[in-house]
Formats: sequence, structure tokens, C-alpha cells
Amino acid sequence: MSAETTGQARRVLEAARRLLDDCAIERAPVDLVRLARHVGIGRIRELDIRLDGQLVELGDGAYEVILSRNAPHTRRRFTLAHEIGHLLVAAHENGSMSCGDGPTEELCNRVAAELLMPGRFINPAVAEDLDVAGFRRLATRFQCSLEATGWRVLNLGQVTGALLVWRQQDDGSLELSAAPRTFGFDLPFEPGHVLDGDLPFVRQLAQRSDGPLAYMHPASGKAYRGDYVRLNKVLLMFFKTAGGAVPGRGRRAAAAPGQRELFGPGGAGE
Ligand SMILES: [Zn+2]
Repeated sequence: MSAETTGQARRVLEAARRLLDDCAIERAPVDLVRLARHVGIGRIRELDIRLDGQLVELGDGAYEVILSRNAPHTRRRFTLAHEIGHLLVAAHENGSMSCGDGPTEELCNRVAAELLMPGRFINPAVAEDLDVAGFRRLATRFQCSLEATGWRVLNLGQVTGALLVWRQQDDGSLELSAAPRTFGFDLPFEPGHVLDGDLPFVRQLAQRSDGPLAYMHPASGKAYRGDYVRLNKVLLMFFKTAGGAVPGRGRRAAAAPGQRELFGPGGAGE
């Protein structure tokens, strides 16, 4: 079954790349309206709706996409690209045209990433020493959210790193909103992990909207380095390196879990 899914995904993603070629897309940001028209979406409206978006069949191969006018620009673009994905899935694999089915949703999100950040544009733009500022530049260039850009870049496999997206709760704590995407090393966080607002590490993050990042896992004593950026109530961390255990400090922290688990200002191993 997974082989079939892989084959299906490959065919649909190939269709997405053909669509970019057929529409002669040669630069970023990608002209999504042109892509939409090519697959039969003749009308795009922005209305007050609860969903992010909706694909409506008008008959005779014509479609309309309704987007939430309350969603940010980058979110509306991603949603439109996702709905184009549904049409490609339906055309090539008899898949569902409405949102809901898990594997189809995942595939439509992959199509959206391919359409918004085509490999041939983004691959040459990704530098080995990419940091959060670099992600921001890419996000601006491709008119995508920082989060979507982060997933896309890491999924391309050109850089080693771990991306974590935390949502700030009302009490100031940070909750990990999605499984950390790690490439090349492990991070000791699970989805739903909460960083308490009183911890020195979190207080350090609260002092600035962006900057360098250092974290040491209390149990292993492993040190991690990277940087972060705060966007409203979202904190995006990108860890670039995972060093070995820090002698002494790691053992001490492991023996006394609590606030000592996390570094305060000054960072690990400085
Ligand atoms: Zn969907």
C-alpha cells in the first residue's frame, strides 16, 4: 500500500512540475493565478469563511476557489496552491477534491510546497550555512510563511538541521506545535512538549525577538546551537549543530533537573 502511495505521490508531484512548465513559470514568487486558471479555476474569491479555503465545482470542468479573507496573504497563497493540488490529485489519481482524507491532504500540501517553492528555484537559493534570517529572505522571495519555507527547505535535504515551531500559551509557556523536523541529528522534544515561562531559557527568548540559541539537554548533556525568531505568538527555532555532551555541566544538570536544565543568558559552553 505504501508503494502505491509513493507511486501516486510521485505522479502527482510530476504533474505539479509539468503545470509549472506548461504555465511558463520562470521566477518567484510563482504566479499562482496563472496556475489556477490552467487547471480550470476560473474564479478566486476572498470571503468571510471559517475554513481556510474551499474548492467549488461549477460544472463543465470549471471551478471556483473561495479563500478566507481573514487569513494572512501567505496562508491564502498556500491554501490556493493546496486546492490546485486537489484538482491534480483528482485528475491523475481519482482522488478526493474536498479536504479531509489524511494522505490526500498530506499530498496536496506537498504539491502546494512544490508549486510555491519549485525545486529548480529554491535549490540554488539554499546556502549550506542557512540560518533563520536566510529562511526569512526565502520566505519573502517566495511569498510563503516562514514555517512552510522551513519545511520545504529541510524536506529538500540540502541542509542539516532541526526546525521547531512553538506556540506561546496565555501563561507565557511555549508548547511545541508540531513534530520537530530533524535532519542529521535528534532533538529531545516531542510534540506537546511545554517550556515553562519561568525557565531561564524561555526568559532569554522573551527578551529579544530573534537571536542566537543554545540549549543543553539535561539527561544527555548534549548541547545544541542555532537561532530563532519570534513572530507574534509563534517562536520558530532552527538548530544547526548538535555537539557532544558538555563535560561536567551536563552531568550536573542531569543530576539536578529543574531550572538548571536550561541555559540562561550566555548560552551553553561559552
Ligand atoms: Zn485539502
